[in-house]
Amino acid sequence: MRSLALAFDVGGTSVRGAVVGAADVVMAESRMDTRPGPAVLDDIAQMGERLLAGLSPTARAQVTGIGIAFPGLVDSDAGISRKAVNLGLVDTPVAAPVAERLGLPVVVSHDTAAAAGAIWEDAGSPASALVAVLGTGIAAVTYVEGRAVVGGSGQAGELGHLVVDPAGPRCSCGLRGCVEAWAGARAMRQRYAARGGDTGVTGVADLVARTRHDPLAAEVWSEAITALADGFLAVGALLAPGEIILGGGVAEAGGDLLEPLQARMRERAGVTAVPPVRLSALGGRAGLVGAARLALTLTRPGSTGWSA
Ligand SMILES: [Zn+2]
Repeated sequence: MRSLALAFDVGGTSVRGAVVGAADVVMAESRMDTRPGPAVLDDIAQMGERLLAGLSPTARAQVTGIGIAFPGLVDSDAGISRKAVNLGLVDTPVAAPVAERLGLPVVVSHDTAAAAGAIWEDAGSPASALVAVLGTGIAAVTYVEGRAVVGGSGQAGELGHLVVDPAGPRCSCGLRGCVEAWAGARAMRQRYAARGGDTGVTGVADLVARTRHDPLAAEVWSEAITALADGFLAVGALLAPGEIILGGGVAEAGGDLLEPLQARMRERAGVTAVPPVRLSALGGRAGLVGAARLALTLTRPGSTGWSA
């Protein structure tokens, strides 16, 4: 029985790859800095070759296929990146070159869709929920009557680019004061450094740890919480989701995120109902796990998804 998947989560900062087995068990993992442009596809294929080479022949024969969680606009049926601004790609085949190099069927999914799908499944597939993935970028998938809302243009869920303060910091999208410009992992580190904070801060976990003794770190984190609260309340006012479920690397802050966020939402809610908020245990692994689950639906040679 084929029961292993090769999974990749491609982000603007790093590419993560893993061999994932049943029950989301990660058997081998690898990570590298993202090289933008078509080089990223070479890097994925090379990382895949290394991960496969590390498996026993028996384990290698059990690999069903490859799942790739990819940023930007993705055409999953064609296996093509329509547009990935951070990677500098337009109309670039992703599935075909990787499938050709590794000799396995490939499914490509939008990174948020893959991550949110895994988070939602783990939460028991609630009929009404907003699943937010909080990392360098911030995005969300809304589930209504048990289905993901994709919208007419297929681009629903850009929670990160909801403007919560038009006078706020400049966002990567060109606007000011987007949720992501306040609460994205990179934006928080940059704001902390720009105001004189330690430039050696390694990530969100480090920043959150500093909030206990460093007022500047506490201020940056508090601003992020406010932006997230306002973003969720705006979505809540429109859609009133039954609950909000948080995943992604920033959600690994745990109670340091959840408790102030819930309090801030209650303070700022006005007439909007405040839905319960909970954390997914998948944290920053959600994209990788989602990609692996998609790959496990493939059969060799591929009968679903895109295959070589
Ligand atoms: Zn923006």
